[in-house]
Amino acid sequence: MGADGRFTSWLQKSKLMATINMNAARTKPIIGRLAPSPTGYLHLGNAWAFLAAWLGVRAAGGRLILRLEDIDPQRSKPEFALALQEDLRWLGLDWDEGPYTQSARFECYAAALESLGGQGAESDQAEKYASGGRDLLYPCFCSRKELRELAGAPQAGGGSRQSGSSFRQSGSGFRQAGGGSNQSEDGNIRAGAGNAADGSYPGVCRNLSPQEREERQRSGLPFAWRINFAQNLRPEFLEFEDLILGRVNFRPEAAGGDFALRRSDGVFAYQLAVVLDDIEQGVTQVVRGEDILGSTPRQLFLQSLFGGERPEYAHLPLLLDHQGERLAKRHASISLRGLRAAGVSPEAIIGWLAHWSGLRTELSPCRARDLVDSFSFSAIKRECELLPIDIADRLLRLRAD
Ligand SMILES: [Zn+2]
Repeated sequence: MGADGRFTSWLQKSKLMATINMNAARTKPIIGRLAPSPTGYLHLGNAWAFLAAWLGVRAAGGRLILRLEDIDPQRSKPEFALALQEDLRWLGLDWDEGPYTQSARFECYAAALESLGGQGAESDQAEKYASGGRDLLYPCFCSRKELRELAGAPQAGGGSRQSGSSFRQSGSGFRQAGGGSNQSEDGNIRAGAGNAADGSYPGVCRNLSPQEREERQRSGLPFAWRINFAQNLRPEFLEFEDLILGRVNFRPEAAGGDFALRRSDGVFAYQLAVVLDDIEQGVTQVVRGEDILGSTPRQLFLQSLFGGERPEYAHLPLLLDHQGERLAKRHASISLRGLRAAGVSPEAIIGWLAHWSGLRTELSPCRARDLVDSFSFSAIKRECELLPIDIADRLLRLRAD
């Protein structure tokens, strides 16, 4: 009897411990971020991405950071930074921390670059990854024109966050990954299953002799710092779980090849900044458009270099215009400001996006916070309709009555 009682109490205690442990695992706080670039006014596509990122965090009871990705000083403007905060608040999307700015962190990016051997410094990380006596980082003297010729494809039009890295050729490889993801027999997404090898930097400057490098540097040719990804590619950089897409696998050719961490004009690459920021700000959940999907192997590589923990990823279907083109900040008529000036309510925009994305069957105005309780990434459709050409009129007509 006494032994029985002890056993029961032990059992209860161990069950209790298991419950406590499960809760501890579950209550590890989700930290997400809204990360707009202040390079123009927000449009409906941005509203969709920020709504989803906001819901992912709010539904999990986590913390949300606002980070202004103003890494490119030529394109970022303080008035856009102010406007986008006003637009987010107008939509009913708030945040708990920030805004943090990338422009305040250039020293941190420079130090990270240096830790990888970017200034010729010795480093543990560089030694760990440098293979066969090759450098982890190397100066790349290729001009934009040469890079275009190497990529064998014209540069796509501007306006994307990806252009921050200046090497858009990898973008052409992952457009198919997003637009027409190839579902393979095992049900996995094979990202970049098409001609994704197109556009990878073939490592021309990696193969320069020390003399050639020195000559070019002495002649004052501008150069970018490029990282030797192709020869440090490991299987774990090619696969991850996505909250919307499920298991994503990249073919090695689709990983993007060597990429720049700092452009020849001195601007740090988006890939570098975003990975360092996410590590330092403790970000555990990354929600972003499918157009960025192809960056993931490069970011997983950088995370591993800097000892970061892998966040959860959710890659969202893109809101494309009626011709199937990505929305750009030049689509002024569907900027949030334009719609607001035309008399569209934030509830109409949120309600329309929730219906369009599959989060809500009913098409009616609602507030962002009305969507929190029922939110699930798995409810988001993988393929969404194109934006109707008369979207502004439709939103105007969308009223609560
Ligand atoms: Zn080069």
